[in-house]
Parts: sequence; C-alpha cells; structure tokens
Amino acid sequence: MLGDTIAAVSTPRGKGGVALLRVSGEGALAICARVFRPKGSKALADAPSRHAVYGEILAPNGEGEWVSVDDGIATVFRAPASFTGEDTVEICCHGGMLLTETVLTALLAAGARPAEAGEFTRRAFLNGKMGLSSAEALGNILEAQTREQLTLAHTGMQGRLEARCAEIYESLRKILASIYVKIDYPDEDLADLSREEIVSALKICKEQIHALVATYRTGHAIAEGIPTVICGRPNVGKSSLYNRIVGREAAIVTSVEGTTRDVLTETAALGRVTLRLFDTAGLHETEDPVERIGIDRTKQALAEAELVLAVFDGSRAPTKEELHLAEQLRESGAVTVAVLNKTDLGKVCEEEYRTRFAHTVSISAQNGEGMDALAALVERLFTDGALDSRRDAVLTNARQHASAYTALEAVCRALNALEAGFPIDMCCTDAEAAMSSIAEVDGRAVSEDIVSEIFSHFCVGK
Ligand code: GDP
Repeated sequence: MLGDTIAAVSTPRGKGGVALLRVSGEGALAICARVFRPKGSKALADAPSRHAVYGEILAPNGEGEWVSVDDGIATVFRAPASFTGEDTVEICCHGGMLLTETVLTALLAAGARPAEAGEFTRRAFLNGKMGLSSAEALGNILEAQTREQLTLAHTGMQGRLEARCAEIYESLRKILASIYVKIDYPDEDLADLSREEIVSALKICKEQIHALVATYRTGHAIAEGIPTVICGRPNVGKSSLYNRIVGREAAIVTSVEGTTRDVLTETAALGRVTLRLFDTAGLHETEDPVERIGIDRTKQALAEAELVLAVFDGSRAPTKEELHLAEQLRESGAVTVAVLNKTDLGKVCEEEYRTRFAHTVSISAQNGEGMDALAALVERLFTDGALDSRRDAVLTNARQHASAYTALEAVCRALNALEAGFPIDMCCTDAEAAMSSIAEVDGRAVSEDIVSEIFSHFCVGK
C-alpha cells in the first residue's frame, strides 16, 4: 500500500563493514529523526537533500528509553528526487548482524513497517520513476552471473527497451488518431495521414515490432540462459568439458567409467551465451541401479534441453551405441552439437560425425583447444551477432516477448484488413490492441497480478 512508510535492511544479511537501511514514504524524515541524531546543529529534517550527515543512531533499550547504539551516516532524498519517488532516508551503520537488526527494530518502533520483497522498486515503478522493463532489468542486475548478462541488464536499466516501446507506441497513437478523424469526419480531409500513409506507417510499425520480437532469441540466450545437456558414453570427456565451460573443477573427473551419477547444474558463460548446464550420467545401458537413476535423469534433462552437447571421443569412429544415441538426440528437438573431444591424441575421425550431425566441433577438453570455436558456434546458433548488448533494446524475458508478439499479431491483422480493402474502421480494434500490448512491455498497461508476480522475485530492501 502506498502512503505508509516502509523500512528494510538493503545490504545482505551477515557481518560486514557497513550495513545500509532504507526508509521510504511520507513519514521517512519524521521516523528517522527519532532514530538518527545528527552531530551538528541541524536537525535531520533540515538536512540538505543528497548530503551525507554524520550522527548518532538511537534505539529503544527495552525499558522504553532511546539510547545510542552506534554512530553512522544518514542521507536524505526528498520526493520526487529519490529512487522510489518518495521521501527516502538511507542510514548507514556498522555491519554487525545484531546491530543491523536493532536499528531496523528501532525504525519499526518509530513508525515504519517492514518492506515486502521488491517493495522499494515497486514504488519506484508505481510512482513513474521507472518502467516495468527497467525494473525487470534491475532484477537481472541483481541476479546476473555472467558478464554478458550484466551488460544486457545494465542496458535495460538505462531504459533502452522502454524508449523503443515508447517510440512504437507513439507511432501507433498517431496512426489511430488519423483513423479516428477519418471515421468521425469521413467527408473532410482533416487527418494527418491519408489511407495510403496509414498503411505505410503500419508497415513500418510491423517491421519495428518484428525486429523487437526477434531480439528475444538473443535476450533469452543471454538473460534466461539455454538449458543445456552434455551427454555421451562414459569416458569420452563430458565432465572435463563441463569443467572447461564452468571454469573450475565442478564435476569429478576420473578414468573409471560411470562416475558421474547425478545431474549437476550450473550457470556458465560460453562466449556471449549463458548455459544452464546439466552435467549428466550419460545414456548408456547399465545394470547399476544408482547409475540407472542418473541415466533416467539425463533423459528428463534432455526433454527440457534446448542445446545438447553430444560428446564423443573424436580419436575413434562412433560405436553402434553412439550412433543409436545420435538417433535419440535427433528426436529430442534440441539443437545438437557433436563435440569431438581429445584432439590432442592426434587423430580426429571428423568425417564419420559430419555426415550424421549438422554441427560438429573438434576440441580437447584437456588443453582447451577448440573451445573458442565451440563458443563461436553456440553464439551463432543462439544469438544475433548484429545485436549489441551495450546499446540495443532487447527483450529479455518471456513476459516481454509475449506482449511484443501479441502486438505484432494485432498490427498484422490491422494491416491485412486495410490491404484487403476493408473500410478504415475495421482496423481500429487491432491497432488499439497493438498499442496496449506494446504498452504492456514496459508496464504502462499491465495487470496488478503481473506487477505483483514480477516484484515478488526481488529481495527485501530492493
Ligand atoms: P566422462 O566420463 O565422459 O565424464 O569423462 P571424463 O571427463 O571423466 O574423462 C574421462 C577420461 O578422459 C579422463 O581420464 C580424462 O582425463 C580423459 N580426457 C578427457 N578429455 C580429454 C582430452 O581432451 N584429451 C585427452 N587426452 N584425455 C581426455
């Protein structure tokens, strides 16, 4: 609920040099004035905006008295020039766990209520400080595990996607305005755009939305990550490849067959692409019941995979069993790359594999040879090389994609109606639908449920 004043610890829970507590809402200054006493002559309420003020931090001692518990810094941000758009005070104290809890309790005793997960950002969105796609990008910044994810999230936070959607929205608004004028005053020439101009403007919109929808391929590969399975017979080097990609000894590498019995998962970058990696037990036949479970999990992971790295010992031709595996993979629907490992052994039977797989790469998981080629191939398969994560508007989640795609469909329907020669009013509903779907991408028109769902993924204090 807007109107009340919320407080939370914004730094992670734990012991640290400093901790930051945030208070936002109409009562922020009055509440903090009870908890923070500046050392200088000025009261906190008179502190200039965005200036650090040194002072004493007070908390109730259990007997109703407020006593000094620490010294620290308070910074006042007056509405609307704050992150949330409301009066906000940030208090920095020393980073002890008990101390931080004590200061938070003091803020609550002074009249604030505990903030819910993502509530500061939610308020920023509701107060028009940022669009929904920027808020989502902020969430991605907090979650980023690879450099490319961070770059893309940062670009999103700067409002690139929001700006792109605003441009398209504005074009559609102009088109609709002309359509309405034509409907209301059919005999007069009052509209900005003629029927032909409306058709060409809609075509441009269609191209723009189409281009935006297409960015999701790259956004998905970077921001959400590609579920990836590494599979192959025992001892071909699956764990070694996994470790190479993850960059450390995450899976146990041994020369005893069938040692990887569980499915490990890890997020790692391969070039620009984020892989959500399952390292698996393989797909061979086995009598060992524990290994059997691992193999069943492999099959489950395969069903969800978008990329399969099928590892072979490239120094020898595929066995009958491996050819059977290749057949199974073809049916899985995932993009399959045959990874011919152990090039360092000097012999690579590439031809045998090339005839069976659309994509093959030769590598040595042992010395890293060929890993760049593998990364380049995966980038080519899952991203658009022309898109620049540092500057382009990119759709980064399924929600944004669904809205943009719905807008594209609506614009196509509107255009089809006009091109088929129907009266101009026949395209109104679709042009309006396109506008509201585009507005959904950055949250200008989005349901309360969706907003709640998005902010529930944030942490408390953000
Ligand atoms: P997995 O059973 O498929 O997971 O295979 P591992 O990664 O455990 O490797 C099996 C054996 O092959 C180990 O002895 C590794 O050291 C070895 N191996 C893995 N990759 C290479 C490679 O590129 N070259 C060579 N020569 N040996 C490798």
